[in-house]
Amino acid sequence: MTVPEQAPESGVLGDRIAGTLLGLAAGDALGAGYEFAVPPRRGAAAMIGGGLGDWAPGEWTDDTQLAVCIARVAAAGELRPDAVGDAFCDWYRSGPADVGIQTRAVLDGAPGGADLPARAAGYFAAHPDRSAGNGSLMRTAPVALAHLGDDAALAGSARRISALTHADPLAQDACVLWCVAIDRAIRQGRLDGVSDGLALLPGDRAIAWRERIAVAAEAPPESFTPNGYVVTAFQAALAAIWQTPVPPSEPAGHLREALQAAVAVGDDTDTVAAIAGALLGARWGATAVPGGWRDLLHGWPGYRAGDLERLALRAARAA
Ligand SMILES: [Mg+2]
Repeated sequence: MTVPEQAPESGVLGDRIAGTLLGLAAGDALGAGYEFAVPPRRGAAAMIGGGLGDWAPGEWTDDTQLAVCIARVAAAGELRPDAVGDAFCDWYRSGPADVGIQTRAVLDGAPGGADLPARAAGYFAAHPDRSAGNGSLMRTAPVALAHLGDDAALAGSARRISALTHADPLAQDACVLWCVAIDRAIRQGRLDGVSDGLALLPGDRAIAWRERIAVAAEAPPESFTPNGYVVTAFQAALAAIWQTPVPPSEPAGHLREALQAAVAVGDDTDTVAAIAGALLGARWGATAVPGGWRDLLHGWPGYRAGDLERLALRAARAA
């Protein structure tokens, strides 16, 4: 299956939109071989494959697969949560090689997408201290593409798409903040837009997130483990991005070096790097993804790099 070729969006904006999904996939595939294993030294990660899903080198995992589900709904015209939920259910029934614990608990046996919010809320009610996994943050980037320039719509959509599997307000908040960061990276070329999203959170939660963001700016990226928890995954990705210097002679090389730093954090490596990759790709564009990585990238549903780029452009154009 391939996404039909369309006239490329011209210029920097199109490169950044395409880079959002491509960067997500690049981080995902780069981290896939090190998930819950010994992390590589910083700078040494490669698309080696293996890992929990016995992935091929350059193959992306469930993080990108679920993002593709969201992006395809957005590209079809409107990002309706029910339709995204149906896409998640179809994906689950296709027998993916890896599925997160919380996502599996909600999707397993679900009749359809319309049932997911109640099932996810039920999971949160039954496990109030263990429902803030990173599984909705890792796939949230296409929500930003569908609502570029409209913070209120973006925030509401990020919450509803998170709550299909992850109802915990912490997971929803993280999705809002990361989507705002991606919006600012695409439209304004900034990597610090995450703080703009604080205005969209309830006051007490905004105060707590402001502190978490401040910690991520200072503490070593490697301190944010374990990171199956959405807060530490968020902080690990942000720390890897902010604490990796932008190379003066080759600014776009920041994408490559910060993704290396994200994988070197260790633990849930594909997801931390997928989260980081979406924001880095939104800032530096698809053209910043090294050619060797781009050539290797592939995955469900039979896509390669160019398909992800075209899908991202269609998701943004439909909005
Ligand atoms: Mg994964």
